[in-house]
Amino acid sequence: MSPAPGGASDVVVVGGGAAGLSLAYRLVETGAATVTVVEQPDGPGRPAERTWCYWDEDVGDLAEAVEASWPLLRVHGPHGDALTVDPAPSRYRMVRSTAFERLVHARLARSPGGSLLRATVDTVRDVPGGAEVRCTAPGGRTLTLRARRVFDSRPLPALPPARTRLLQHFRGWFVRTDTGRFDPAIADLMDFRVPQPRHGLAFGYVLPLAPDRALVEYTEFSRAPLTTAAYEAALGHYTREVLGLGAFRVESAEQGVIPMTDARFPRRTGNAVFRIGTAGGAT
Ligand SMILES: Cc1cc2nc3c(=O)[nH]c(=O)nc-3n(C[C@H](O)[C@H](O)[C@H](O)COP(=O)(O)OP(=O)(O)OC[C@H]3O[C@@H](n4cnc5c(N)ncnc54)[C@H](O)[C@@H]3O)c2cc1C
Repeated sequence: MSPAPGGASDVVVVGGGAAGLSLAYRLVETGAATVTVVEQPDGPGRPAERTWCYWDEDVGDLAEAVEASWPLLRVHGPHGDALTVDPAPSRYRMVRSTAFERLVHARLARSPGGSLLRATVDTVRDVPGGAEVRCTAPGGRTLTLRARRVFDSRPLPALPPARTRLLQHFRGWFVRTDTGRFDPAIADLMDFRVPQPRHGLAFGYVLPLAPDRALVEYTEFSRAPLTTAAYEAALGHYTREVLGLGAFRVESAEQGVIPMTDARFPRRTGNAVFRIGTAGGAT
């Protein structure tokens, strides 16, 4: 596909997170389209670094962003019974969002059809022949981009109506123990030995990075997030009483809320405007 007239990109991707960067990366790699990703400048409005885990058969060209992987997956029942499975040919992998951003930003920079613009998108609308994206660059300058197609991953101000509106909400500690407590071959995907909330369910999650280092999370599927103090108490109980980690240090923490809903998200909001990622209902 050749660049759009006037030097504009064929595609503008609004938001350079998991969905936007994945789409932009695939488009420039295949040469299917010229792409501009518009991502907010660094600052308090941007999401903090997060840890993305997923399973897949092949790490492919994302190898340099993969921080860890586990050949075995385990689930613990509420009474301690454990089931370990080998998901081969798939493998569970961890990517840190900053490593993924670095990788995709570098590939966009060296691809003739790719570019990254640091600006805050204010509006997206259909115009004849495509769509228009208005944004504000650092310093307050306003910019208008045009493209044949726009893929928008900005978070929605509110979720569409739904029958089920649960949240997957969690907090995790990156811990370092005094002695080797973890088996780096096994990821504990769900550990139901934690006390259960009155509504919904809860589980622990352990991703070992070394015999003495792991990401340990407390997760709930329920209607509302907890306070940080409540997550900390749940993590304290899980690490000390359930995992018996002994002495350890918390080196850093992460926290998140992911909507788990059967809402129907409009995927197309104009002739040339599409929603992707969480905003398009992909979670
Ligand atoms: C701590 C944490 C851990 C997680 N772990 C996992 C996991 O293990 N596995 C998994 O599958 N999912 C995980 N998730 C969920 C995952 O992060 C989301 O599902 C995923 O990031 C959604 O991708 P997205 O592109 O829709 O949104 P995001 O990745 O949030 O990207 C949206 C982007 O849009 C940008 N943006 C927003 N507004 C504007 C604007 N006006 N102008 C320009 N840019 C804008 C934001 O800065 C952001 O970069 C986790 C989430 C958190 C918070």
